[in-house]
Amino acid sequence: MILITGGAGYIGSHSAIDFIKEGYDVVILDNLSTGHIEIVDRIRAFAENQKGNLIDFINADTRDSSALNALFKTHKIDAVVHFAANSLVNESVMNPRKYYENNILGSISLLNSMMDNGVKKIVFSSTCATYGEPDYVPIDEKHPQKPVNPYGNTKLAIEFAIKDYAKAYGLKYTIFRYFNVIGADEDCVSGEWHDIETHLVPNILKADKNKVFSLFGDDYDTKDGTCIRDYIDVMDLARAHTMAYKYLDENESTIINLGTGEGQSVKEIFAAVEKTLEIKVPLKICPRRAGDPAKLIAETQKAEDVLGWSSRVPVEISIKNACLWEKKLKTIKGIEYINKQEAHN
Ligand code: UDP
Repeated sequence: MILITGGAGYIGSHSAIDFIKEGYDVVILDNLSTGHIEIVDRIRAFAENQKGNLIDFINADTRDSSALNALFKTHKIDAVVHFAANSLVNESVMNPRKYYENNILGSISLLNSMMDNGVKKIVFSSTCATYGEPDYVPIDEKHPQKPVNPYGNTKLAIEFAIKDYAKAYGLKYTIFRYFNVIGADEDCVSGEWHDIETHLVPNILKADKNKVFSLFGDDYDTKDGTCIRDYIDVMDLARAHTMAYKYLDENESTIINLGTGEGQSVKEIFAAVEKTLEIKVPLKICPRRAGDPAKLIAETQKAEDVLGWSSRVPVEISIKNACLWEKKLKTIKGIEYINKQEAHN
């Protein structure tokens, strides 16, 4: 059985979906601070329609070591795929305490419970934010790590802890450093659902004449003046985690970038959304957003060499699935609203 922390969130839920598709039993641990119980319910329904896998859900925080110990005693966990974290760069600058407490203390508590209960495999969700402002692109895994915000600092600190635990206690790990994750699973079981939405594709999709899309900065030193990022589909990303779990059984620990190796500008993504969905999105050019590097692109050779993984889903399909999800989300939110009203009455 696989333990997925943060499995009620965007990336964790898609990882759960991929493990389920591959026939694994999954237990999701999530404190629902940013994740959603509706997503857990939808994953459960999806699993029942698949191969009848066992899906368990524990509503707890990774800092709650008694909940973790109980979980490890009652479930035979073979490996942990660890997503649970706060991940908003701006928020981390304003409220570093929240990030150090949730991300670092949560991860240390999880690692300690794993060691105490003899669980020795982890797949960890890290980020290209640990590289900071790049010295060169594409960024390979040997690029110096100099994060420029507390979010990146906390992820780097957890990478250090995992490596030290590996040396001392025989933990085996895959650390993934993600680039920009977009899209949704084709069945729309899950998708991006953040109370504060900061990401590019959902913000383009949410725009209308009352809420014009803000493009942050068109004066960067790039081909069209807007920032360049490496946009990777969430199901491609999820598949890498399942592959990493299988890989860890017989191989050594490793650190791998997950991206497509291709850079696209904000204007290019904006144009791709308009073209793919045949829509016109109202746009205004705004000043730069603080802390945005001009260009982040992954070197993906190691993912291919070590795991035999490379991205498959074209950006147009990610956009289509993200759009289908946005529509689904409106109905889910409608149901959630009705449920809350009924609970209130
Ligand atoms: N972006 C934008 N408008 C938005 C959200 C994002 O212009 O409403 C730009 C942002 O400045 C960056 C790129 O889109 O250049 C990707 O931002 P996102 O927040 O999706 O990911 P990040 O690279 O910050 O992790």
